[in-house]
Amino acid sequence: MGTPPVGSSPQAAIVTVGDELLLGDTVDTNAAWLGRYLAGLGIPVARRFTVGDVREHIQVAVSAATDVADLVLVSGGLGPTPDDITREAVAGLLGLATREDPELVEALRARFRAFGIGEFPESNRAQAMVPDGARVLDNPRGSAPGLAMTRGDTLIVLLPGVPRELRSIMEGSFRAALGDWLPRSLDPVGMRTLHTTGIAESVLSERVANHLAGYTGPVTMAFLPDLRGVDIRLTVTGLPPEDAERSLDEAERLLSPAVDRWRFISEGGDLGEAVIAELERLGLDLAVAESCTGGLIQKRLTDLPGASRVFMGGVVAYADSVKAGLLGVPADLVGTHGAVSQEVALAMARGVRDRLGTRAGIGITGVAGPGGGSEEKPVGTVWYAAVADGRHVVTMGLFPGDREAVRERAAQAAMAQLFRLLRSPEE
Ligand code: ATP
Ligand code: MG
Repeated sequence: MGTPPVGSSPQAAIVTVGDELLLGDTVDTNAAWLGRYLAGLGIPVARRFTVGDVREHIQVAVSAATDVADLVLVSGGLGPTPDDITREAVAGLLGLATREDPELVEALRARFRAFGIGEFPESNRAQAMVPDGARVLDNPRGSAPGLAMTRGDTLIVLLPGVPRELRSIMEGSFRAALGDWLPRSLDPVGMRTLHTTGIAESVLSERVANHLAGYTGPVTMAFLPDLRGVDIRLTVTGLPPEDAERSLDEAERLLSPAVDRWRFISEGGDLGEAVIAELERLGLDLAVAESCTGGLIQKRLTDLPGASRVFMGGVVAYADSVKAGLLGVPADLVGTHGAVSQEVALAMARGVRDRLGTRAGIGITGVAGPGGGSEEKPVGTVWYAAVADGRHVVTMGLFPGDREAVRERAAQAAMAQLFRLLRSPEE
């Protein structure tokens, strides 16, 4: 397995437009999302450009992107305000006149009526301007449609900057039309993602490499790490759907011994979903007691629709007095072992389980930093416990990163621990 040889498939470039991106007021999540999305389609991103709301700068970037890529995606600046100049700048670069599209004007009017805004602001007419020959890509989530046009062999697509609008166009009208533009990408793409948590990317990739040493099949692989874990994305292009599925099955089977210990299965890629599914399967309900994560685990669980079927509630027990008062953690336990200890984590999990009358519980206590660390318990030290019926497990993690990273990693680790306890057969 490896990445496909460069040059054998279409390549993309991304241009993100907006002063706010350069100033750092907005994090460029569109470029990251597009990179992942296109990789999934078998069109790797070769280059990225970011420019401010300046006509010449947009033109220079789009021109350079066009030189290196078969597909250029431009995000931002399609709105109705005077700083939204992407449409005009790119049309100018390509020497295309723009014209108002009567259908789009009508659609915009209808949209404003639907929102109860009777008067249609003139400035919004800009969003109905279409460069000659451009194809309009329907935007179900907003007023500015995407626009696709060609320069030589390169397809240029303009997209609104609002992330959810950009995504819905890419997944909807862009995806549907892609085959018309890029015949090579007509090759069907099969994709599968394996989710793992609790193992470092480097260790995981080494294990995978060892297990797949002799693999010569068509599946390529990408490791996608974040604070919560590492996804392994399997991709296969150029095969009929059944063959693609078979290849993915084979690759998954080969990977199984290397990754299963850390793997969880969930549609949306969130470990919370897997935890909830596992609790449901076993008919258990859950209560959570959190100190250093301040409710993060409970937030993550309640982010998911259907959590109420298994998640009863919890306590953010930050002060020792709350650990004692609301969870019944004995004061001498804290005195003897410290608030960040195996004993206290377990007592929190048992305490919240008993007080809320559930059958499963999580307790977590740690030093998130930046202060509060000691030689014995440095910043990043977190004890977390899971209890389910008669069984329990308590673990200490030493998590790297700043306060936010420590908390995010710790919450994930505590959820993963409960997940594995529920999954492991009873002795
Ligand atoms: P609008 O019609 O809202 O003006 P637009 O197409 O003109 O849309 P922008 O004005 O550039 O887009 O940005 C709209 C919103 O989307 C802003 O809140 C901006 O911060 C956000 N945004 C723009 N570009 C990006 C990006 N690359 N990544 C994440 N968010 C972005
Ligand atoms: Mg704008």
